[in-house]
Amino acid sequence: MPLSHYACANCGFWQLHFATPPDCPVCTDVRNDLPADGWRFLPEAEVAASHSGDAREVAPGLWAFTTSPALGLAGTGWLVVRGGGNIAFEAAPYYSAAMLARMAALGGIAMLAASHAHGYGALFQLQREFAPPVVAIQRDDLRMTKAFRVTAPFDDRLDLGGGCTLHHVGGHYEGQAVLHDAPGRRLFCGDMFKIDQDDAGRSRAISSHKAFHKDIPLTHAELRRYRDAIAPLDFDAVLTPFEYAPEVSRAVALHALDEALARAPGVKRLPL
Ligand SMILES: [Zn+2]
Ligand SMILES: [Zn+2]
Repeated sequence: MPLSHYACANCGFWQLHFATPPDCPVCTDVRNDLPADGWRFLPEAEVAASHSGDAREVAPGLWAFTTSPALGLAGTGWLVVRGGGNIAFEAAPYYSAAMLARMAALGGIAMLAASHAHGYGALFQLQREFAPPVVAIQRDDLRMTKAFRVTAPFDDRLDLGGGCTLHHVGGHYEGQAVLHDAPGRRLFCGDMFKIDQDDAGRSRAISSHKAFHKDIPLTHAELRRYRDAIAPLDFDAVLTPFEYAPEVSRAVALHALDEALARAPGVKRLPL
């Protein structure tokens, strides 16, 4: 039976399967909600026929790829255009042919990585299209990667060259990793932080969670690990799979973690 890709209509997670998958490992996990009306899985041809998308340069050399209409968690695929080989971090839920052509015109992809399963999007498409030599996922997240092939599993840290480095931070997901872009002074922080933004895209509040939907907090040990991981890194902005927050510098991020560490565990949205 031929294998093909199916997207969960509830969260957008892609699975490679010989038939409609029985369930979705992201939605059955405590960190996401089950679909209210039962499972629905979309074959790739159906998604391709009903979705398009957009690419925009949000800062010099930093591109955001998004899918419309929204699919699943509706994340953003980031592309860092740079001399040493472009890096794609996280992926859009689906890439139209025009989006892939735009990416190719920007130099394609040499390195592909994601923070954790909520940021995978259609990462399998980017591997199929560009065959980047490096597909890097932290070791503890490998169990979620059946829809694509990891070529560079890593433990604590993976140097991508040119001042870009992946760091294992755990917390929200055991295998969660962040990408520090030192020359760009940015931290692609995965779901280490949730940034609440207004309709104009201005960041209004920052928080950290084990699970957003149910407001399950992180433990102090998990927050301390976040702090230890990012304290040595310098950055002026963070990018989650969903938000670009130029208001969140290293000092702001550390302040948010220190505030959470100074009280009993609990989810609190700290105003920015
Ligand atoms: Zn799902
Ligand atoms: Zn997440």
